[in-house]
Amino acid sequence: MNETRVPGFGTLCIHAGQEPEPVTGAVSVPIFQTSTYAQDALGSPRAGFEYARSKNPTRLALEELLAALEGGAAAHAFASGQAALSGLATAHLRSGDHVVVSRGSYGGTWRYFTKVLANFGVTFSWVDTTDLDAVRAALGPATRMLFVETPANPTMELSDLAALAGIAREATARAGAKVRLAVDNTFATPFFQRPLALGADAVVHSTTKYLNGHSDSVGGAVVSATAEDAARVGFVQNAAGAILSPFDSFLVTRGIKTLAVRMRAHDDNGRAVAVFLAVHPAVKAVFYPGLPSHPQHALATRQLSGFGGMLSFDLGSRDAAKRFLDRLRLFTLAESLGGVESLAGHPASMSHGSLSPEERAARGITDGLVRLSVGIEDVDDLLADLARGLEGE
Ligand SMILES: *Cc1c(COP(=O)(O)O)cnc(C)c1O
Repeated sequence: MNETRVPGFGTLCIHAGQEPEPVTGAVSVPIFQTSTYAQDALGSPRAGFEYARSKNPTRLALEELLAALEGGAAAHAFASGQAALSGLATAHLRSGDHVVVSRGSYGGTWRYFTKVLANFGVTFSWVDTTDLDAVRAALGPATRMLFVETPANPTMELSDLAALAGIAREATARAGAKVRLAVDNTFATPFFQRPLALGADAVVHSTTKYLNGHSDSVGGAVVSATAEDAARVGFVQNAAGAILSPFDSFLVTRGIKTLAVRMRAHDDNGRAVAVFLAVHPAVKAVFYPGLPSHPQHALATRQLSGFGGMLSFDLGSRDAAKRFLDRLRLFTLAESLGGVESLAGHPASMSHGSLSPEERAARGITDGLVRLSVGIEDVDDLLADLARGLEGE
């Protein structure tokens, strides 16, 4: 065997952090449902396990797996994607700091930054991060973080991560203090996009979506590029305590075992659905990075190794969108995304309903826009359901 061989992504999904359990040899990492650990003698906890908020073997296995998949120094698992965002922000930001954020970020990111962190003296500029000049113009002497979501919900716009990492490095040199690039990689997952390899300092995930993949757990994670940054996030994880439970850690680890095969299947079905919709006469526009009509298709082919199962399309009016959603049988009308089952939603009234009509218009979220999370069912059944939904339009 060649000892220097680097395992492939699909192999890491199944084996990274997943050594057989040392006492029994269990091949599946057990759910260590315990709050504390016996100590043999004063001052000598076994294997460093003292209290389960600080360290739990089930969570640790998932954290090692996530660090391996994203190519980071270490990962920390949190109780939700929002808790992970909070862990990242409070580890690296102080009162007086300024953050440049993607205008198209998840609504919960907007809520946490503007309604919570803003109360602690952190300021934010909401910028179209697909426009590098707009990002440069938004930077100031107090900027300490670029927070970028790409692809961004729901119009699937992309930000150029390698270029943004360069901007963050220049800003670091000017400021004489670290200006971090943090990326929400929930949509693409490390299977299609590796932000740390492109120069980012941290990755945030809602593991609720593709990583767990089965719509049966809420969780999140931060993956840090360096051990120093990881130590700060780990300190906050223990100090603030928003940890992922042992059972959810088990579920996400189990979900990730099939991440490579699921993402390939989402990608196959996503492409087929995008092409079907693009040529359908009732559909005004389709937003999918894999279509040549996507304004950033060239960047998509460079930055992503696949396009996945998320897309949106415009039916021209709220009424048409409602008729379509009402006729679907296989696609379920629901919030969320990234599970094996196909979901459909109406961003203007669901995921982005809290934005003002002006804010929605600025982001291209029209009343006729429908978002799909294309699952991994048989594609012919999905296309038949979509055809039924569009009948008579
Ligand atoms: C769902 C989601 C989040 C928030 O994650 P939760 O697990 O719901 O807290 C953050 N970012 C993106 C892109 C998401 O889709």
